[in-house]
Amino acid sequence: MKIAIVGFGAAAIGFIEQVKNSDCEIHIFEKSRDIYSSSISGIRADGKLFVSKDMGGELDVDLELQKDLVDFWIKKSGNGQVETGHSFAGMDHYKKFYAKGFQPVLSDFYHLGTDQLKEVLFNIYEEYRSLKNIHFHFENPISKVELAGRKVKIDQFDSFDKVVVAVGRSGHKLIKTIIKRYPQIVLDSTRVDIGVRLELPDHIVEDLNREMYEFKVRYKSRTGYMVRTFCNNPSGFVVTEHYGDFTTVNGHSKIAEKSRNTNFAVLTTVQLTEPFNDPIGYGSHIAKMTNLLGGDKVILQTYSHFVDSRRTKNLYRVQPTLPEERFILGDINLAYPRRIIESIIDFIEHLNEVIPGLAHPDNLVYAPEIKFYSNKLDNDLFKNLKFIGDCSGYTRSIIYASAHGHLMGKQILNE
Ligand SMILES: Cc1cc2nc3c(=O)[nH]c(=O)nc-3n(C[C@H](O)[C@H](O)[C@H](O)COP(=O)(O)OP(=O)(O)OC[C@H]3O[C@@H](n4cnc5c(N)ncnc54)[C@H](O)[C@@H]3O)c2cc1C
Repeated sequence: MKIAIVGFGAAAIGFIEQVKNSDCEIHIFEKSRDIYSSSISGIRADGKLFVSKDMGGELDVDLELQKDLVDFWIKKSGNGQVETGHSFAGMDHYKKFYAKGFQPVLSDFYHLGTDQLKEVLFNIYEEYRSLKNIHFHFENPISKVELAGRKVKIDQFDSFDKVVVAVGRSGHKLIKTIIKRYPQIVLDSTRVDIGVRLELPDHIVEDLNREMYEFKVRYKSRTGYMVRTFCNNPSGFVVTEHYGDFTTVNGHSKIAEKSRNTNFAVLTTVQLTEPFNDPIGYGSHIAKMTNLLGGDKVILQTYSHFVDSRRTKNLYRVQPTLPEERFILGDINLAYPRRIIESIIDFIEHLNEVIPGLAHPDNLVYAPEIKFYSNKLDNDLFKNLKFIGDCSGYTRSIIYASAHGHLMGKQILNE
């Protein structure tokens, strides 16, 4: 069987691990120049691996498989050095959050760090490259996938018995063209997470950071919107992410280099109903509006000014880890809808009751922080065309994406 995989990221790797020893001929088409390219795959920053039923995707992946996949990723790192922890293993914190209306999210995690991730990807690539049935085609951004009788055709290449699309979130353009051709594959498209990134001195959250490294809680705010923490980075760094026509904030941490600040995202889930069907358009417009105000930079504001809707002109005790040339001091309220701002403030004020100091006036708030969800795609519609990982709408993490690939690989071999 001749299989094409479009995209070489976490989902593709989970898939290849299943099929690499079969008699399948596997062709991997990847848009990046090579394995060292800074744009290749989502496996570039941070490398927190979670084992959880409550986060990472909307697939049923049993915990044993998740743990096996974690072991796989750790083994592929240079020296296997990881920071580990369990969120809310101790009941003390669990009870405190619960009492204030938060829903604590349970997970085990393993932190590889941005610095080790490059090596992981490189080691995996080197192994696959040495196998006779695996062929890499770099610098091949696929722009067309079409059913051709019992086969599937991609761009100008020969037809394949199966095409597995694994382009992650960065492959949204290809997914858009596929959806345009086959609109019936879309099962759901209504959700986007819009929020800010909070940065504060380590000492305010050091108990939580020590106990569980990544604290994840959800909360139903007074606006009715669900708000959650996401991607906590103890002693980490705020970074910017470029999506072509707009720039957002993100955060990461490293094993070797440490800052004195912790940053994490506070995200409001916006889930709208018909006739709305363009969550990516909605989120992109808010991001662009924020960039417009910031002269193409992200906006930084102190927490008290964020609450009072006043432009920040000076900072006080907390110094940003994002380099100065990447942000502008401003007012996020001019770009964000009121209901989202109110949800975020309600969340932070409540969090401050569990973690005193979280709402200090001079803590830092960055925007835009936006997490897009891909449309949920129907994998039962076409026998020979499948979608795995983040582009399928079912996953949002390295472990869930690789599990999706793993399960699809098994399914195809069993057919
Ligand atoms: C900055 C950042 C930090 C993250 N940190 C974490 C973390 O710590 N822990 C965690 O669990 N998850 C994290 N994630 C999410 C995680 O990376 C993704 O959920 C996961 O990588 C999804 O795997 P995937 O295979 O679906 O997509 P990806 O890993 O993104 O791989 C998709 C591949 O497809 C290629 N591609 C795209 N379009 C085309 C095309 N048209 N033709 C050919 N190739 C194409 C891309 O270049 C890419 O290599 C992070 C994501 C980002 C962006």
